Amino acid sequence: MVLVFLDQAEGTITKSSYEAASYAAETAKLLGTTADAIVLGVVNDDLTQLGMFGVKDVHTVTNPSLNQFDAQVFANVLAQAAANYNVVIFSNNSTAKAIAPRLSVKLKAGLVAGAVALPELTNGFIVKKSVFSGKAFANIAVSTEKKIISLNVNAFNIVKTEGTATVQPFEAEVGTSKVKTTSVDKVSGEVSLSEAEVVVSGGRGLKGPENWGMIEELAGLLGAATACSRPVADIDWRPHHEHVGQTGLAIAPNLYIAIGISGAIQHLAGVNRSKTIVVINKDADAPFFKAADYGIVGDAFEVVPKMIDAVKKMKGLA
Ligand SMILES: Cc1cc2nc3c(=O)[nH]c(=O)nc-3n(C[C@H](O)[C@H](O)[C@H](O)COP(=O)(O)OP(=O)(O)OC[C@H]3O[C@@H](n4cnc5c(N)ncnc54)[C@H](O)[C@@H]3O)c2cc1C
Repeated sequence: MVLVFLDQAEGTITKSSYEAASYAAETAKLLGTTADAIVLGVVNDDLTQLGMFGVKDVHTVTNPSLNQFDAQVFANVLAQAAANYNVVIFSNNSTAKAIAPRLSVKLKAGLVAGAVALPELTNGFIVKKSVFSGKAFANIAVSTEKKIISLNVNAFNIVKTEGTATVQPFEAEVGTSKVKTTSVDKVSGEVSLSEAEVVVSGGRGLKGPENWGMIEELAGLLGAATACSRPVADIDWRPHHEHVGQTGLAIAPNLYIAIGISGAIQHLAGVNRSKTIVVINKDADAPFFKAADYGIVGDAFEVVPKMIDAVKKMKGLA
């Protein structure tokens, strides 16, 4: 049996969890079994809808303390829920990165983090994953009885079916957190960067923080999140939670628009799983153009205002 962990943010199941649910259902089909899901904390979504993603039963642990993420507590609860399952699936986001290794130890389960395809079952249980920041793939044979897979965001297309899932409470011992949260600073009014479909990102080519108005305006018009290269966050032009790359957030939006960013390998490591990459740079030899689907060689201060005007016209705002 296959169990998928559904991550939530502020009571809403995250988009990448639906990809993981679909992946779990397809994995279950390959194994000749069914997929169930587990949700921790109180959510507002109608969980019966998960049937459309191939999930049979949804186990819920509605203890409100679980709305505050704690990796140790979550891993304990999941270990209880996973007792009757052979394969546990996560979406490979920051939550999974904190829980899956802990669960792997508790269940003595082999873990493949960053899967990009369904398991291959003709010769054992082999999972393809991306390695070296997306530069290569490795096929990992998992021989433990229990297996854990965390699926890269945007690596698997959602397969929608007909159906309604059954929602049932799971009685778990939740335990108390060893971590005490003393304050929470929430970023509000912005599109979440890790979940965004469209990201508008700026680099040192923008010359200074005072020029981010046009980045924010374009992002606002496109319903996009804003991001930046590391030096931009290091010199305090932008907050650190916007920094993407090897040492920042790894994202996989449908559209990544990089403005005044050179495309260093450490930056690409965090964005090269984006479906479509658009690069705006005044240097035709900037390395980013090699990774781009579309490139505009030009000055950002001329190109971006033209893009803003074009989007406004398209939306009937100008
Ligand atoms: C261990 C390590 C980890 C790192 N991790 C990260 C990471 O996670 N994320 C990250 O981003 N970097 C990371 N870096 C830094 C990385 O190597 C690069 O230095 C950084 O990405 C460069 O940022 P940038 O492209 O904004 O700036 P620059 O390299 O200065 O590039 C600016 C670009 O803007 C263009 N430009 C200038 N003016 C204009 C204009 N008017 N219009 C259009 N284009 C213009 C230039 O042609 C240039 O290509 C890391 C480095 C190391 C050593």
